[in-house]
This record gives sequence, structure tokens and C-alpha cells, in this order.
Amino acid sequence: MGWLAELDRGLFDLVFPRDCAVTREPMDDEDSSHLSAAGAALLPRIGDPRCLTCGHPFEGILEGDRACPHCLDLRPAFGRAVCAFRARGPARRIVHRIKYERCPFLADDLASAAVEDEVFRRHLAGSVLVPVPLHSARRRDRGYNQAERIAGRLASLVAGCRTETLLGKQHETVSQTRLGRQERRNNVAGAFVLADGKSVDPARRYVVIDDVLTTGATLHACALALRKAGAECVDAAALCHG
Ligand SMILES: [Zn+2]
Repeated sequence: MGWLAELDRGLFDLVFPRDCAVTREPMDDEDSSHLSAAGAALLPRIGDPRCLTCGHPFEGILEGDRACPHCLDLRPAFGRAVCAFRARGPARRIVHRIKYERCPFLADDLASAAVEDEVFRRHLAGSVLVPVPLHSARRRDRGYNQAERIAGRLASLVAGCRTETLLGKQHETVSQTRLGRQERRNNVAGAFVLADGKSVDPARRYVVIDDVLTTGATLHACALALRKAGAECVDAAALCHG
């Protein structure tokens, strides 16, 4: 997939002058990214305090015991999820371009900006990153799996990380975007399995990686598949919290 993405990037840069994905200002010639420092500073970064289960910022809405409205009824198979950005404004726009506008290279830039969050980076350190799989037909249509691209970039930037495509998606699910919480959970239940010929090492820590965490249903279903395969320590991370 590497060559295809690089080809995409080359064509894209040829057709459009390389601008920052956020500020639209022209990028430095030496810098091969599509996100300037000024653009990265405008991304809606999640700070502390944040929910210890789903990573949503508390933003002063809650006091006392943990009761995050975003994961209140989720009993996730993952221990903790951390997200770097809210899926709003420029971060949401970048994710949309990654998924639907054939801009997989923006996944590199958003992942690089994500690891500037120390909480996010420490959450990944030393673990095996497992991208949420796409169904093979969807992957063929899109030409890449954005979660794989994100996991690959994160693994190259964070100490002791590597990525393994351990999971497969055995049947296509309808788009989650218009579904409610329970519907999302039903939609993805049982969709993910350990890929043929793969195995997990119970001594390793696995972190399931996705572009966006919305209800946590997809990351939960992936974590469940890893646990069924014998993984004992499973967490999750997404670039954005929806
Ligand atoms: Zn939460």
C-alpha cells in the first residue's frame, strides 16, 4: 500500500500546491508534511482531565465520581482509551479528507501531531498497535486502510511500539454514522476476528488503533476479538474523539 499512498501524495502535490491542511498557507519546500506548526496549534486538542475509559475531556461538566456521559453504558473489553483531539473543526475536516477524499498522507500528519500529547504518547509506548481492520471489499475500494496508516505512523514515532494487523473483518457492516449507541454495538458485534495465521502473545500489551472513537463500539468489538484470542492486556487509542 506504501507505493499507492506515495503515488497519491505525489499526484496530489502536483495538482495542488502543498498547503497546510488547516491554515491553507503554503508549506515550506523542505517540509514534506501537510500540517504546519501554526495549523497543528489550531487543532482541538484534548487536555486533562479526561475520561479514563473513553478519553473524552471532562470540560468541567462533571464532579465527583467518574460518570462520563460518553461511555456510561459501555462496558468495554479494552481497559482505557486515549484520544488526542476532539473530532471537531479542522480535526474533523482532516479525518474526512483521510477517509473520503483519498488523502491517506494526512493520516501521517495528524498522527505526528497526536504524539505531541504526552498522555497519548505514553499510552502507546512499548505496545503492539493493532489497527481496526476494514472489510476487504471496502479496503479495495478505498485503496488503503486509514487505521493501518495511522498505526504505522504512530509505531514509527513512539518508543518500543510496533504494529501488527492481527484482526480481520469478516462481514461488512452498515455505516455507523447514523446509528445510535445500541445499534452501533449490534452492528459491529462479531464482525471482527483474529486474522488467519495470526496469534496473540498474552504477555504483550495491545492497543487497538482507529481514526475516530465515537461510542467506542468498534474499538470494543476489536478488543473483544483480541481477548477471545488470548490477549490479556488490551487498550485502545484514536486520533479523535467524536
Ligand atoms: Zn468516557
